[in-house]
Amino acid sequence: MSGALNIDLHTHSNCSDGYLTPAALIERAAAAGVEVLALTDHDTVAGLGEAWASAQALGLKLVPGVEISAAWRAQAIHVLGLWIDPASPELRAMLHAQGELRRARMRKICARLDKLKLPGAQLLAAVEVHPGLPTRAHLAQALVAGGHVATPDAAFRKYLSKGKAAHIAAEWPALEEVVGWIRGAGGVASLAHPARYSLSAGARRRLLGDFTAAGGTALEVVSGGNGAQHVETCASLAMSHGLLGSVGSDFHNPQAAWNPLGRSLKLPDCVTPVWRSFGL
Ligand code: AMP
Ligand code: MN
Ligand code: MN
Ligand code: MN
Repeated sequence: MSGALNIDLHTHSNCSDGYLTPAALIERAAAAGVEVLALTDHDTVAGLGEAWASAQALGLKLVPGVEISAAWRAQAIHVLGLWIDPASPELRAMLHAQGELRRARMRKICARLDKLKLPGAQLLAAVEVHPGLPTRAHLAQALVAGGHVATPDAAFRKYLSKGKAAHIAAEWPALEEVVGWIRGAGGVASLAHPARYSLSAGARRRLLGDFTAAGGTALEVVSGGNGAQHVETCASLAMSHGLLGSVGSDFHNPQAAWNPLGRSLKLPDCVTPVWRSFGL
């Protein structure tokens, strides 16, 4: 177990597809008793300044983080960069390019929706009103708000998921490149939510082999909402690849009461915590 430390190394603010501002996220985490929190927005570090100020005021330890979208054999993979230097010019340039990729993809998806007789321009405008980097989660919300689908999940099932009518594959940079950027910014690369990718057990092992060879050093062994069996599988994957373990709720939305910040995230004893090397 991760002892008494209440730690959560994977959360989102409204600088990407989270619902809370960075300050509100930190306030919620502090109120929930979280002692160490990483803000890991998709492809942006824009929320870290506000989160930092709020964390200092509340006595919470903030880990500067980011969740970067990468490509591995035509599969989109998310890599957490933890303890990164958000001022790193190379990282900032790379994240700027990720933002451009996201904006271009969103325009293409909305053009596709328009062809499907949905109000593409209106949906794009609804996404662009949002202060953070555009994600399909924003578009799913706009589709719900417009009465086109009942829930965000239905938006993914009907239009946005791989293989569906409005799916546009993003051309994310290669996994190896992304791990290199994280390491170049002084960070630790942790492979996020390993159970979320549709990969066979063999392909998952190859992914972990390539990730480790590229310089990735941690695996998100405990990811919000995952059952005990999944945690066990990930713990043995971490051990067999010599990876450290990270834990994270992947918190986006305070209304998702089944996925609270911190507390419930317990790393099995057999895995070395990634935070150990940071004196925690
Ligand atoms: P993107 O990074 O633009 O491809 O958007 C992916 C984001 O959409 C993820 O980070 C999730 O927050 C969200 N997401 C993915 N699948 C679903 C789903 N089935 N229902 C609701 N949200 C989803
Ligand atoms: Mn998300
Ligand atoms: Mn993710
Ligand atoms: Mn996430």
